[in-house]
Amino acid sequence: MNTMEQVATAFTDLTQQPCAGVWFAPGRVNLIGEHTDYNDGFVMPFAIAQGATLAAGPRTDDSVQITSIDMDETHVIEARDLSPGSGGWQAYLAGVVWAMREAGHRVGGVDLTLASNVPIGAGLSSSAAIECAVVAALCDIFELDIEPIERAKLARVAENAYVGAPTGLLDQAASTLCEADAALFLDCRTFDSRQVPLPLSRHALEILVLDTNTPHSHVDGEYAERRASCDRAAELLGVQALRDVTDLDEALEALSDEVMKRRVRHVVTENERVLHAIEVAESGNLEELAPLLDASHTSMRDDFEITVETVDLAVETARAAGALGARMTGGGFGGCIIALCRAGSADGIGQHVAAAFEQKGFGAPDWFVATPQQGAHRLA
Ligand code: ADP
Ligand code: MG
Repeated sequence: MNTMEQVATAFTDLTQQPCAGVWFAPGRVNLIGEHTDYNDGFVMPFAIAQGATLAAGPRTDDSVQITSIDMDETHVIEARDLSPGSGGWQAYLAGVVWAMREAGHRVGGVDLTLASNVPIGAGLSSSAAIECAVVAALCDIFELDIEPIERAKLARVAENAYVGAPTGLLDQAASTLCEADAALFLDCRTFDSRQVPLPLSRHALEILVLDTNTPHSHVDGEYAERRASCDRAAELLGVQALRDVTDLDEALEALSDEVMKRRVRHVVTENERVLHAIEVAESGNLEELAPLLDASHTSMRDDFEITVETVDLAVETARAAGALGARMTGGGFGGCIIALCRAGSADGIGQHVAAAFEQKGFGAPDWFVATPQQGAHRLA
């Protein structure tokens, strides 16, 4: 049984009804543009093959029944109990129903049955995959004509307001808007976006995604600290957001705190690297992405200080084993790295990293070769 059949069957077992349909929304990796989203800057994610598969159907009442096959749990939440901060994994689904109702969309009661193969907390955005699958399902079931970018924003409201995670739009935009063989360029201020072609195989390239499986610790606190530091720097520099810093040297001279200077330098140079990456990709020189990935990693390691030993070792080993360029991807303090590799070499590079991890006594990493996929869509 494939995942689509699995969620549809589980749905029917639970509700004694066939589902109205099955929807899918992917996880994502960010090719470049880290910690730039909340600075009104630029990001460049692409969707991966792993994602959330969701069977859904309307109910006769206005409650929400939520099942995760992976968690082996079902929750029924009555309409009046849909309230922010109510916690648990079910909040990622319930939050979407709440957000859409709050926004004035006529969303009735629904049964939702989910299975996902996005690893949790690896920085591949298992949360947005779920939220965006729910938005897609509700739009179809309740015949709501909502633009893709607005769908992403509704999913983000669920995560920010209902779950309570203060994230930018990167994850939800990627899971909703991405197209196959392309990365998504997103301006996190204007929310303008465009597809940037990424025909890797035509250039005999592939992208390795390696999960270091490093347990995250203090991530929320560190994330909040980086955000606060960026906000404070923007305030001191008299700009709306660090995106507006046009002269880096001048900005650095105007600041006195050495740590804050490094944070600013990361954000400003990372935004420049995203714009450069788009130029390079659009001119068809995909190999030229490699030095940008390397520079992004150095900036995250030395200036934004969000890498950890396993991540740095993975990046260095991947490069030594033949990757053209590599960087950590995602919020940091663990999670995944990506490496741009010659076609056919990614798996061997993953094995080199695994050997290096073993030698250092680190837990084994997982890896896969990622090809850019289509965003949220209906499967059946
Ligand atoms: P990520 O980087 O993977 O998005 P988050 O902390 O943002 O990490 O989201 C992970 C959370 O999403 C999990 O703790 C869980 O609450 C929820 N989640 C992810 N996958 C599933 C699943 N298959 N079933 C139920 N909940 C899930
Ligand atoms: Mg998430």
